[in-house]
Amino acid sequence: MKILVLNSGSSSIKFQLFEMNEKISLACGIIEQIGEQESYAKIEFGDKKIEKKEVISNHKYGLKLMSILLIESFIIKNLDELGAIGHRVVHGGEKFSKPVLINGEVIEEIEKLIPLAPLHNPANLDGIKVTMEQSPNVPQVAVFDTAFHATIPSYAYMYALPYDTYVHDGVRRYGFHGTSHHFVLKEASKYLVKEKINAITLHLGNGASMAAIKDGKCIDTTMGLTPLEGLIMGTRSGDLDPAILFYLARKNGFNIDDLDKLLNKNSGLKGICGNNDMREVEKMAKKGDAKAQLALNMFSYRIKKYIGSYNAVIGKLDCIVFTGGIGENDIDTRVRCCEDLEHLGIELDLIKNNQRAKEIIDISSKKSKVKVFVIPTNEELEIAEQTNSLLGT
Ligand code: ADP
Repeated sequence: MKILVLNSGSSSIKFQLFEMNEKISLACGIIEQIGEQESYAKIEFGDKKIEKKEVISNHKYGLKLMSILLIESFIIKNLDELGAIGHRVVHGGEKFSKPVLINGEVIEEIEKLIPLAPLHNPANLDGIKVTMEQSPNVPQVAVFDTAFHATIPSYAYMYALPYDTYVHDGVRRYGFHGTSHHFVLKEASKYLVKEKINAITLHLGNGASMAAIKDGKCIDTTMGLTPLEGLIMGTRSGDLDPAILFYLARKNGFNIDDLDKLLNKNSGLKGICGNNDMREVEKMAKKGDAKAQLALNMFSYRIKKYIGSYNAVIGKLDCIVFTGGIGENDIDTRVRCCEDLEHLGIELDLIKNNQRAKEIIDISSKKSKVKVFVIPTNEELEIAEQTNSLLGT
């Protein structure tokens, strides 16, 4: 059975087609800059690449172009050949703790969650609505970024605000990157041949988050009501004293939009050293840039604090997992995050750490009580697998 996975954003749509019998990717691609003059569609399959440059004014046309590319490349004959379409949906709120078959009611519920994810859920819904119209006979499944965190207990997901902000406004920790944390957890579990492992998973990309996993279930995560909380990220601040916002508003007359932009777009690595791309920050630091070095130190210090606190609430750890663009590729960040953690039973093998991870690699030393893994994430395959198992095929 073929499953198409769609990640529909506000100006781009990423897609990947899987043959689930062999769990292989048949093709992947992207429709970029939707609504702009320079838009284009790209597909890759085998060792081939095709790109079409034309004005793609909306999601409907973008998805039509995707199906034309899949058909012209002889990957499918028509969309009805698909066994299912799996959609990434960012926010499932408290309503969705599992993947769900999409119908009118589900669409309404995702719409109700728009205030919690005003940038993402509308774009995800655009993709869903267009494909439901284009392929009414193909089952469509929503897989939520928040769902993996549904097992977090109330004492960990509640904020110490008046209880009414939870009841009336839905203010609580939801967590994100769920499909990635889930995917690497399953891979680590398989590798250790143990079903219910204790782990800390670190998804370090442009956005970054950690999850605390006890007996195979998520019990805490660093992102909160929104993806802003927790780790230092490319352009996001992560944790800070909320009173900084009142202080800056009163002192500099910043309004809500100024503060939103400051924390989400102009902070993190970029705020400290002017660059949000970790490769550049590493290069700058190697050339002696003090702010870049500070940004790197702050980045790994925050992670170490979370490793310590998660270790305290999980108990004996089986493993720590690095994933995401930085986690999978940045050898030096991994060293900084694990440095001086021998007292927690965490010790890297610096030679093993020097490898490229095409699949799971163990970078811990022989003495290390806790395994340290690098696992390339595959959120699209995870969405395809969850879609497949929901449909019971
Ligand atoms: P996104 O959250 O957008 O999916 P990715 O998971 O692709 O992001 O991660 C992007 C980050 O990974 C960038 O900061 C990039 O610099 C970093 N990165 C990618 N390759 C390397 C590398 N070889 N060394 C260090 N950082 C890397």
